[in-house]
Amino acid sequence: MTVLDLTPRTAIQPAARRTVLRERGQREVFCGLTGIVWLHRKIQDAFFLVVGSRTCAHLIQSAAGVMVFAEPRFATAIMEERDLAGMADANEELDRVVSELLARRPDIRVLFLVGSCPSEVIKLDLSRAAQRLSGRYGPNLRVVNYSGSGIETTFTQGEDACLAALLDEVPVDPSTEASLVVVGTLPDIVEDQFQRLFDAMGLPRVAFFPPRRSTQMPAIGPNTRFLLAQPFLGETTQKLEGRGAQRLAALFPFGANGTTAWLRAAAEAFGVDMARFEAVIAPARDRARRSLERHRGKLAGKSIFFFPDSQLEPSLARFVAEELDMRVLEVGTPYLNRTLVGCETDRLSADVVLSEGQDVDRQLDRCRAARPDLTVCGLGLANPLEAEGLATKWSIELVFSPIHGFDQAGDLAGLFARPITRHDLLRV
Ligand code: SF4
Repeated sequence: MTVLDLTPRTAIQPAARRTVLRERGQREVFCGLTGIVWLHRKIQDAFFLVVGSRTCAHLIQSAAGVMVFAEPRFATAIMEERDLAGMADANEELDRVVSELLARRPDIRVLFLVGSCPSEVIKLDLSRAAQRLSGRYGPNLRVVNYSGSGIETTFTQGEDACLAALLDEVPVDPSTEASLVVVGTLPDIVEDQFQRLFDAMGLPRVAFFPPRRSTQMPAIGPNTRFLLAQPFLGETTQKLEGRGAQRLAALFPFGANGTTAWLRAAAEAFGVDMARFEAVIAPARDRARRSLERHRGKLAGKSIFFFPDSQLEPSLARFVAEELDMRVLEVGTPYLNRTLVGCETDRLSADVVLSEGQDVDRQLDRCRAARPDLTVCGLGLANPLEAEGLATKWSIELVFSPIHGFDQAGDLAGLFARPITRHDLLRV
């Protein structure tokens, strides 16, 4: 049973479609710098220069440190006390660091200056720095800035801010022919799978944003239809719509149902014959269903509780409820964008608690009272909950792993099944 603990710090507010528990207390989330871990893998000629503190450098190194690169494509320009106290000119220091970096790495084509809590606190204007450096090193190098700060944000907002900033570098599509752009960072292997399906449907103009190289930016304009691959791209969506591009509303491509609905939205928008659509997707969808079947036996009827972390929570909750028959108790999400994920939450049963924001102690109380079979949460909460005998899954792992599309559906289910299996084995 799910316990709703209502106190003055917590309020249930009426909402258009279902009641949402809104909380504004202590939060346990990573900051937007984390997005660099997957963004730098995707855009292969980009470099991410965090303008931050030693804490920021440690975060990035420990989040990305498991990956071995001869030449990593991210670094931190560490602001020392003299910078923070205003005794040194931070812009001069930054220019010097960038000049040394470019001398060593002439292959960089887009340089992201990534703001942090310290750079924001001293109000270092990175947009002016980006303009200045673009003027100095352009046109072969573009310098783009965005904020990865942890002030009132959660970690997936780093990608949103990065892509929204990168859109300024995207040319306007002059064509009168409709095109499709898939928006959101996907592993190359997943992108290739989707591209093959779009090709087989006969869609002629398909591109992915962000691209693998900054020199391959898709052109975007009023004839662009776009499909979001990630549900946390609210700012990017607004900017795309500001250019006249039209969002194709759909479930997100998790599991067999989500992927089918997502692909169908594109097929319908481009007038693909439904018989052809069915013929194209049926083999991969059947494979996905078979791979889910293997995990459903283990997961059906198991209860699950999502703490707010990645903003994937509503989509993943729909997936585990609909395709794995799990019993969702609470779906926490840092921010609830009804426009983007309303179609997901509409499919959750009425007794599921939907919560936005966090008051971590109260949410822990609800979780402990519910004793779910699986708790999806941030790293900081996982160990204490494991110590209390609860099986946990790190939500960040769901962002780092390839989980989109038909061919990853079984792997996605496996990410939920493994902690429960491990927990059962340890209990015996
Ligand atoms: S950006 Fe802020 S929250 Fe993130 S590591 Fe740096 S100081 Fe910490």
